[in-house]
Amino acid sequence: MRVLVAEDDQALAARLAEALAQAGLVADLARDGREAAFAGCTERYDAAVLDLGLPHQDGMGVLRHWREQGVAMPVLILTGRSRWSDKLAGFGAGADDYLTKPFLMDEAVVRLQALIRRARGHGTPVLQVGPLRYDSHAGDFSLGGQRLVFTAQEQRILAYLMHRPDCVVSRSEIAEHVYARDLDPDSNTLDVLIGRIRRKLGQPLIHTERGRGFRLSAGDGLA
Ligand code: CA
Repeated sequence: MRVLVAEDDQALAARLAEALAQAGLVADLARDGREAAFAGCTERYDAAVLDLGLPHQDGMGVLRHWREQGVAMPVLILTGRSRWSDKLAGFGAGADDYLTKPFLMDEAVVRLQALIRRARGHGTPVLQVGPLRYDSHAGDFSLGGQRLVFTAQEQRILAYLMHRPDCVVSRSEIAEHVYARDLDPDSNTLDVLIGRIRRKLGQPLIHTERGRGFRLSAGDGLA
């Protein structure tokens, strides 16, 4: 899952990106409102963290721009403005959640995870595909009750597939949601990683849909 962090306080943005990475999420940073407005409309993010006090364009203006352009990703506003009227204005502009500074990193992360999960139609943090279980809150995978250990990259790919069960997910879609903006993954790398995940699963849960991508399903492999 890929998150846009629009925050001009660079130390805070870096700490947030690190906390997100530890939770298995990839973060792209935008340091001002113009960059945030552009990135949110041109890249596919699973969620955004949006500071309201941004240079060049205020966060509220960025949010309105995204919503006018049909960008529907969940947005968590992060700001020092704690007045009720500010919060109302944020929700009115299309925000999904609101966190006032100072805040706990862990709280920002769990709120984002919850927003991402709900945007994908999942009511609880535990996702299940056949015998494969993913606790998106704890970041744990298990198969038939046995814990599975994945590398960070493998985990990000499988977590994305778990959020899209029984759907054909293209290579480019996986790349867009699993890698940060400045990384250009080649498809060989993705094949190698999928191969490793399959070996660890030991069961045919990830099906290749020729020319279309991959599908995570406990079914028989028929699309
Ligand atoms: Ca700021």
